[in-house]
Amino acid sequence: MSQRTKIKALLESEQTDISVIVKGWVRTFRNNQFIALNDGSTNNNIQIVVDFENTDAALLKRITTGAAISVTGTLIASLGKGQKVEVKAKEIEILGDSDPEKYPLQPKKHSLEFLREIAHLRFRTNTFGAIFRVRNSLAFAVHQFFQERGFVYLHTPIITASDAEGAGETFHVTNFDIANPPKTENGEIDYKEDFFGKATNLTVSGQLEGELGAMALSDIYTFGPTFRAENSNTTRHLAEFWMIEPEVAFNDLDDNMDLAEDMLKYVIKYALDKNADDIEFLTQRLLEEEKQKPQQERSEMSLLEKLQFCLDNNFERLTYTEAIEILKESTPNKKKKFQYPVEGWGTDLQSEHERYLVEKHFKKPVILTDYPKEIKAFYMRQNDDGKTVRAMDILFPGIGEIVGGSQREERLEKLEQRMDEMGIPKDELWWYLDTRRFGACPHAGFGLGFERLVLFVTGMGNIRDVIPFPRYPKNAEF
Ligand code: ATP
Ligand code: MN
Repeated sequence: MSQRTKIKALLESEQTDISVIVKGWVRTFRNNQFIALNDGSTNNNIQIVVDFENTDAALLKRITTGAAISVTGTLIASLGKGQKVEVKAKEIEILGDSDPEKYPLQPKKHSLEFLREIAHLRFRTNTFGAIFRVRNSLAFAVHQFFQERGFVYLHTPIITASDAEGAGETFHVTNFDIANPPKTENGEIDYKEDFFGKATNLTVSGQLEGELGAMALSDIYTFGPTFRAENSNTTRHLAEFWMIEPEVAFNDLDDNMDLAEDMLKYVIKYALDKNADDIEFLTQRLLEEEKQKPQQERSEMSLLEKLQFCLDNNFERLTYTEAIEILKESTPNKKKKFQYPVEGWGTDLQSEHERYLVEKHFKKPVILTDYPKEIKAFYMRQNDDGKTVRAMDILFPGIGEIVGGSQREERLEKLEQRMDEMGIPKDELWWYLDTRRFGACPHAGFGLGFERLVLFVTGMGNIRDVIPFPRYPKNAEF
């Protein structure tokens, strides 16, 4: 018996009166007698009972909030309320002291804003422990879902010369001395001299390369970091986020929607089963938080109910055009309650419109399809009406867009014509166009923003709280 047992296993132990070693960080120490110890394996602490009369006073003083300790003792049935078992300490060793005067995490409620400033320590709170265990399960479930279905996990490049979305929100990658880059005769920066011999950037999406893989492997998915230099200081956008992008040969838009809906339900169910304690804790956290809000702003469902509801119901599927009709006729639009009034066909939906559809009108996740081609990317398959493309966005309660995808344009002529119209350089994307020249076939795929999924499942309100170290305008600390 020289191995430590994790607290999760101890709390679930059927056996008592056995010797154990337990290690972790002190959450609280009260009455010189009861240590609440946590090691991150579960949200629950184990209680360590200290025989203070027979323990050195100097040692007792070092059992402070935040200290790392190792306890050797006996697992016994607990006499106190609130726990089944506890550890009667025989020997306590301080592995790392934590000066209570200086330790930023006090055993009290801290605001999420404050915790963001000490993101290096926030893992040690109940809330963030729960969030990152749930995040872990969701990531694992994503892989399991695709692997069970025979998809190939494809690693698309992080450094690329293409801007897949054509939105121009890229971070440049260079090894030039930026104060003094080589210039051409015309005085422009000479990227031929740069590391890759051309201008490069961090990827905004792995989709274009993903399509190349799908044109041979049939079913692929990516799961990797994505970078967008969008200057939007919102609770839904990060400059560095993780995206899951399946791409499937021979799928049409209906298959694509089925795949996305199945995947979302699968991973949510996985987290519900695997992280029941954490989600229960996060449900209570949200209830507490919502108590601060006026009655009409509180959600009708608890977090747990919302997740269950999402599993039990089919997502509502309708076209963009149908959605515009609903929005035009909606009470908030008629009463001029929308910040952006819905007048005509053709404009992009604002998040207030998406949220109205999901939270007020349908009261469930919604998949919108067939958007105007003007507001979507060049690679989406054109419909016969000449106006819309086979796009789909999945909208979630409290989140808005969680998935964006489409059936891809596989017809070379149509694709080239759209690239010309949108000013996308065909010569640079010669390799992409080759897939339309050699064995083109219908195919479809989508991108799921992983952090938006974690937001939904944890019930958190700000995307900066569901990634360990968020990157956003004016912040790259840690
Ligand atoms: P939005 O309109 O919300 O900015 P988008 O249309 O730019 O989204 P896509 O380009 O379709 O999004 O990207 C696919 C998915 O990636 C989105 O559905 C969303 O879940 C996620 N996503 C996009 N931008 C961000 C971001 N800056 N931070 C986190 N997730 C993002
Ligand atoms: Mn965007």
